[in-house]
Amino acid sequence: MSEMVRFLHSGPLAPIKRWGTKWSLWPVHLVTACCGVELAHAYASGYDGERLGSLNYGISRQTNLIIVEGAITRKMARILKMTYEQMPDPKFVMVMGACGLKGGLFWNGYHMVKPSDVVPVDFFIPGCPPTPEAMLRGIRELQEKIWSGEPRNSISFNKIDMLRIGSPRLAPPSPKKIAKTPLVKVNVDRSEKWKEGGIIVKEVSDLLGELASSVTITGRNRICVFVESENAVEVAKRLSRLFDHVKSVNVIDVPHESSFIIEYVFSSYSNKKYMPILLTMASRIDREEAKFPSLAEIFPSADYLEREMHDLFGVWFEGNPGMGVRFLIAPDTPENPLRKDFRLEEEVYTGGDGR
Ligand code: SF4
Repeated sequence: MSEMVRFLHSGPLAPIKRWGTKWSLWPVHLVTACCGVELAHAYASGYDGERLGSLNYGISRQTNLIIVEGAITRKMARILKMTYEQMPDPKFVMVMGACGLKGGLFWNGYHMVKPSDVVPVDFFIPGCPPTPEAMLRGIRELQEKIWSGEPRNSISFNKIDMLRIGSPRLAPPSPKKIAKTPLVKVNVDRSEKWKEGGIIVKEVSDLLGELASSVTITGRNRICVFVESENAVEVAKRLSRLFDHVKSVNVIDVPHESSFIIEYVFSSYSNKKYMPILLTMASRIDREEAKFPSLAEIFPSADYLEREMHDLFGVWFEGNPGMGVRFLIAPDTPENPLRKDFRLEEEVYTGGDGR
């Protein structure tokens, strides 16, 4: 019996306490993911969850139930813990959805946390998303548990420590045989429809000269410039005459070629001719020596984007003062979580009798 239920069963006023709590389960508003829509559905007029004495409430100090609505990320885990601690006893936790059980469709995501690792959970409601009926059945089960002191679903599983029974599962290696890189054909029809495309490519080619390995139209209003990393700063300086900001910085992990492709997407708010155009500057760097010159001095909007890529892929943008400082992900997040060889160990459970 959980501590909270034991509390309800103690003292001379125990039946009154149990009765009152059973019919006054007030979940705090803590919408964390899409399961929240089903929760809203369960309490809307169709299913009318309020008829069970359960009423969603906004302030944690006047509530006694948390319904975790799906995914909990590392950052949200702190909020969940704080909310739980602010609530008065006796208090209960239910977890909705596959994401709250084992990560659901975000399984193996570096940012996922199991709510049961943060707060004591009374009931899990499986599904993706669980139906409103399942949600209300969870409320009924919790009411039963409060009243009788026994949870209705008494199946328990033991977590097996994989480190003890064998070597940890290794990340799958890169494939040994790789299909030939397919020939990428530029959609000529589309580029032909973009009448000014040829003129813009010529302007960009003239501007960059030998510094660009290639300047290609990849679609309407889309141009890709491939450069060597040592030329990136000079190329960016010249492009700053046409474009005034960096829209995004991306890293593509290519482990079987032991390289990263770094992409900067430039655009313009001030030069009317270039406003509709997105120009991608791409460059390939060595995966083991993942360093690339920062363009933040030339394009200040690249600063945060580079730091984000540094957090997620471990690429070091030389010259960006934010390198080595985690700003996007929680401090306990594993290193380089978006590299393709990043894997989380899957947990294995057995029934109580070892099956
Ligand atoms: S279980 Fe499904 S519906 Fe619920 S939060 Fe996860 S993805 Fe969304």
